Amino acid sequence: MLNIRIEKTKNPKPLPAADDPLKFGTIFTDHMFIMNYETGKGWFDPRVVPYQKIELDPSAMVFHYGQEMFEGLKAYRSEDGKVLLFRPDKNIERANNTNRRICIPEIPEDIFLEAIKTVVKVDEAWVPSKPDTSLYIRPFIIATDPYLGVRPADTYLFMIILSPVGPYYPEGLNPVKIWIEDEYVRAVKGGIGEAKTGGNYVASLASQVKAHEEGYSQVLWLDGIERKYIEEVGAMNIFFKINGTVITPKLNGSILPGVTRDSCIQLCKKWGLTVEEKKISVDEVFKAAEDGTLEEVWGTGTAAVVSPVSHLRWENKVSKIKDGGIGELSKKLYENITGIQLGKIQGPDGWIE
Ligand code: PMP
Repeated sequence: MLNIRIEKTKNPKPLPAADDPLKFGTIFTDHMFIMNYETGKGWFDPRVVPYQKIELDPSAMVFHYGQEMFEGLKAYRSEDGKVLLFRPDKNIERANNTNRRICIPEIPEDIFLEAIKTVVKVDEAWVPSKPDTSLYIRPFIIATDPYLGVRPADTYLFMIILSPVGPYYPEGLNPVKIWIEDEYVRAVKGGIGEAKTGGNYVASLASQVKAHEEGYSQVLWLDGIERKYIEEVGAMNIFFKINGTVITPKLNGSILPGVTRDSCIQLCKKWGLTVEEKKISVDEVFKAAEDGTLEEVWGTGTAAVVSPVSHLRWENKVSKIKDGGIGELSKKLYENITGIQLGKIQGPDGWIE
């Protein structure tokens, strides 16, 4: 057991009003978790403290070379009032994979989980209970040495902040229009694409702006070498159902291994569907759309769980997927995963903490 010091706020904020839309990432709870690292000392002084600003030296390494990582997961309020975490072990495993890739010291899994559980428990009252709401949990680590040389840092801060969030889309399940990027790339094999680190997201901004200007909500990335194979969407993995088979790009080093992706694969297999994780070209997808075998396309991610795709735009071609509505399998996956997250449906062992 870790000895986490708890210092409660003397000035609690009012909880959001019942009708607050809880816009993603704008409201923060009363407390945060924080823990330090120093080479030779390891991780030390785990504590929950009032949510507050932090002071850093302007030369802190995170500001210059981007040695930082983050994660994103959610806590849900079940009908009987309990607070449930969805597959936190997967996020913790991915966090340490990211840490290894960018030379941040790993955090023992049990300490990571206890840190999440402790801060969520302290701010339990902030876990909303209206349909499709949750408490978004954002763990992150930053390099803090005051130093301008390029090397892994010797000091870090690990923090966890919490944010109550409303439904990603007011309708719950919402078809989105996707722009396939043919100019820039997000990541290449051997790079940092499979790590959850800020550099991947700053690389995506220019394309996101362009896609939004054209009326598309997210960007779909192609592989960085041949610009032929589908990788993933801005903050989602992507699935296709072609001729009865569920296909998703194989994890190849440049794609983020999504927890929702893994959950969809497991559920589809459990339901007896054939699931193939393989290289799939944008050409194959457009051909399947033309010959009528493309049945469904959807994205998966913690934020919206499942997002059916209504349109794909590639170069100057736009493909409308079926009638542009919500596919049967997308709907079934959304209902089952959200049902498991809320404790209404029994999921596979170990999915709920
Ligand atoms: N790809 C990227 C680039 C993402 O940022 C996310 C969101 N974390 C995902 C995929 C989906 O991952 P998850 O299902 O774990 O949220």
